[in-house]
Amino acid sequence: MPTPFANEPFTDFSNPENKHAMEQALADVAAQFGAEYPIVLGGEHITCEKKIRSINPSKTSEVVGSAQKGTPDMVETALDAAEKAFETWRFTPATERADLCFNLAAEMRRRKYELASWMVYEIGKSWAEADGDVAEAIDFCEFYGREALRWGEVRQSLPYPNETNVLVYQPLGVGAAIPPWNFPLAILAGVTIGPAAAGNTMILKPASDTPVIAAKFMEMVEKVGFPKGVINFLTGSGSDVGETLITNPRVRFVNFTGSREVGLHIVEESGKTRPGQKWIKRVAVEMGGKDATIVDAEADIDAAVEGVAMAAFGFQGQKCSACSRAIVDAKLYDAFLEKLVARVKTITVGPVNDPENFMGPVSSKAAFDKIRSYIEIGKKEGRLMCGGEGNDKTGLFIQPTVIADVAPTARIAQEEIFGPVLAVIKAQDFDDAISIFNGTDYGLTGGVFTKSRDKIERAKRECYCGNFYVNRKITGALVAVQPFGGYNMSGTCSKAGGHDYMGLFLEAKAVCERIS
Ligand code: NAP
Ligand code: MG
Repeated sequence: MPTPFANEPFTDFSNPENKHAMEQALADVAAQFGAEYPIVLGGEHITCEKKIRSINPSKTSEVVGSAQKGTPDMVETALDAAEKAFETWRFTPATERADLCFNLAAEMRRRKYELASWMVYEIGKSWAEADGDVAEAIDFCEFYGREALRWGEVRQSLPYPNETNVLVYQPLGVGAAIPPWNFPLAILAGVTIGPAAAGNTMILKPASDTPVIAAKFMEMVEKVGFPKGVINFLTGSGSDVGETLITNPRVRFVNFTGSREVGLHIVEESGKTRPGQKWIKRVAVEMGGKDATIVDAEADIDAAVEGVAMAAFGFQGQKCSACSRAIVDAKLYDAFLEKLVARVKTITVGPVNDPENFMGPVSSKAAFDKIRSYIEIGKKEGRLMCGGEGNDKTGLFIQPTVIADVAPTARIAQEEIFGPVLAVIKAQDFDDAISIFNGTDYGLTGGVFTKSRDKIERAKRECYCGNFYVNRKITGALVAVQPFGGYNMSGTCSKAGGHDYMGLFLEAKAVCERIS
């Protein structure tokens, strides 16, 4: 039996040894820029004519590496490989599947600094954010390995005369894993390894902004010895390869994390029964948010300022859990705003290979343009307090932006921007704050700062979201500690990193044997 699950510790970069190790890894990784990575189907390495180039958003002239631009016809090849592997993987003992997950975690642990460095360059994560991403990926492998053992246990049903009755859980079949770019190792590992640990075989289509760290994941999967075809790696564009994958009747389930637009499209398409399809396709879709923090009249104002600033601007506001609305009681609105703006002005922005920069670039030129256009909308909808500027000359940098006096129904208070833009909204009282909190289509994360026990209890009950935090920042959910996933248009509430998750990719079989 494995030791009880424990979260992977974060790296302390104030320790000179660790700092040096990271500097060394960044240099080693930079020396590998420009390499090309294959598609891997059934263990076979495949190259294509067209490539996906991965760009360093801190320095857009730099190509981190390139991946293959797979074509829709390759989906059938991937399905052949995954279906074939399923025939043995489904009956492989849970202990063997779990051991592979643990070995994968160990490999990630050995290569921690290297993996973090790839994310610093490929998607603009600061050292701490990149390190956190690797730690979460390790956690998913360790946690789902243990979950495979737990779900693999045969459960005795209620005793009945002359029969044995048991309940077992069996895997579903071939699944599509479709992760986003914003946790390009952690979520990718989670959506793939969770179902695979349960005995399913997977076709992984990574996000096109982060194919290199995805390829590193696949390298490790092969290295630790997952049987060929259990995890298939198919890079390519979402709109053709992704679309072909999710609409294919041979795909048993789709495990998606990404935007609301694509997530809802997957739900809709998965609801159609296509010729040759024998099952009702299962879908888990985890989508966006318009996450809020309530700052109550009885809040510790300094703690609230810090919590809101960290959750709004960590990783440039590009976390699904990011605080994009601060709902502040009128009684301390002005004081809070003044302190918040002063704090945000101290945030450093620049290339993230330099650890002095707290904020790095946004993910892509398309994201840069979209965020800038939301800032323009925001300037009309409220009062620009700081930030607002962007500069894409060498990298894709946008200053942390605070817009105050925003109406709860304004576009920047309702639509997910997915960048460093915070809307500050005034609430008349605590009732008003809760009603503003709940007044969007989403329900992912949220929080409250208050010293009042009554208000804490009310907020815990009434704020409608999957992950709620009291008197701390609303980002940084830990595997097994805060199982993650939200309500309404934030998704199907899969609770990644929780004990219910694996059940989404299993079906129960009741087996009865007559014994006399
Ligand atoms: P996205 O644009 O929806 O893309 C997600 C994935 O879907 C990518 O791999 C993408 O491939 C693929 N895709 C695109 N169109 C597709 C189609 N028609 N069929 C199948 N696959 C398709 O999202 P993103 O920009 O990568 O990620 C940001 C979003 O993710 C935000 O909304 C954020 O809130 C959300 N998110 C949610 C959670 C959560 O747990 N709730 C966690 C993290 C992020 P390409 O890259 O090739 O287009
Ligand atoms: Mg990139």
